[in-house]
Amino acid sequence: MDKLKNKDHKQIGQELELFFTNDIAPGAPFWLPKGMTIFKELEKYIRELTEKAGYQETSTPIMVKSQLFKESGHWSKFGEHNMYNLTLSDEADDTKPVSYTLKPMNCPESTLVYRFRPRSYKELPLRFSEIGRLHRREKSGEVNGLLRVRQLTMDDAHIYATEGQIFDEVSNILDMMIAFYKNFGFEYEFRFATRPEQRAGGDEIWDKAEKDLAEVLKKRRIKAGDKKGDGAFYGPKIDVHIKDSLGREWQLATVQLDFHQPEAFSLTYIDNDGKERRPVMIHRAIFGSFERFIAILTEHYQGAFPLWLSPIQVSVLPIADRHNEHAKKIAEELEDNNIRVAIDNNQETLQLKIRNSTLQKVPYLVIIGDREVENGNVSIRTREGKDLGQLKLSYFLNRLKEEIDKKI
Ligand SMILES: [Zn+2]
Repeated sequence: MDKLKNKDHKQIGQELELFFTNDIAPGAPFWLPKGMTIFKELEKYIRELTEKAGYQETSTPIMVKSQLFKESGHWSKFGEHNMYNLTLSDEADDTKPVSYTLKPMNCPESTLVYRFRPRSYKELPLRFSEIGRLHRREKSGEVNGLLRVRQLTMDDAHIYATEGQIFDEVSNILDMMIAFYKNFGFEYEFRFATRPEQRAGGDEIWDKAEKDLAEVLKKRRIKAGDKKGDGAFYGPKIDVHIKDSLGREWQLATVQLDFHQPEAFSLTYIDNDGKERRPVMIHRAIFGSFERFIAILTEHYQGAFPLWLSPIQVSVLPIADRHNEHAKKIAEELEDNNIRVAIDNNQETLQLKIRNSTLQKVPYLVIIGDREVENGNVSIRTREGKDLGQLKLSYFLNRLKEEIDKKI
């Protein structure tokens, strides 16, 4: 493939009407209906995976009092200048202004969900997922389409577990990541990131956390490159780096072991001997942020998304006006089967209709002419220009459903 001819996601996003940005909100995308379809499909997929893996979904406020991020250590680590803070006067007493922060991360609020009531060892591991919208104050010169944004949506989760459950939990997360990336055809590599210079928590807990993660990698015989000193400020992590079709490397998935925040927020559970103990916290994201992941997918596929993600899955192209009615019937039948369909009944030649749908990267084109009206079959072409000939509609539908289910 000629890499020079590759378009970036902003150009593809414009041509395929996926999203746009506007100076009115630098670093925060406006999602158009077609882009939102991709977003929703990914959301559906990640929910399927997490529900199957025993996660429970939560949602926490976007804006909270800044005090929470002071307690968690984010305030001193990232500095207030990397977060969005606003000072509001207290309603009851406007001489007492209160500082609020737009959350840059979900973790501290997740601990409040954990602390909602006393927890027993019987409930652990507790796996809370959250598709959370975050705000980070990237410099305006650094924001870039969907790749570097100020407002991002994360496929986040926090798992609260006993120390004895660390191996299984981290191991299951690694499996989930592998399955996910294989599905998209990405090559992937693991990296082990250890304690950074600026960190919270003493050496003893860092020794333990690093040892635990190293043990998972060893027992699972997973080779991981080193990212010395690149851990989160609260704990070490294993990151997954992927290579896209253009050979570029991206860090997306992460699993982080955290003994610090359970301490900072005094999290406890009652063990089977009736004593209070401290759970560990495992942070994980499979694809990181929806925005960045969609940018990478868009460039990886150059807009030709797999069928399950394609905003329009089938274009129905009547050859002449007299075929419009039959085309409409075919489109309705496809829609009834949850296929995303568009009919092109503009007054144009078939060649031009095929060209337009192909430029829009619609995976399948259904052509309706006299023969198709007569025998009730459909003529199928792919966006790659392959002619699949005449098929029975039911056969075509099964083929679509199978392809969608397999996410290929
Ligand atoms: Zn977290």
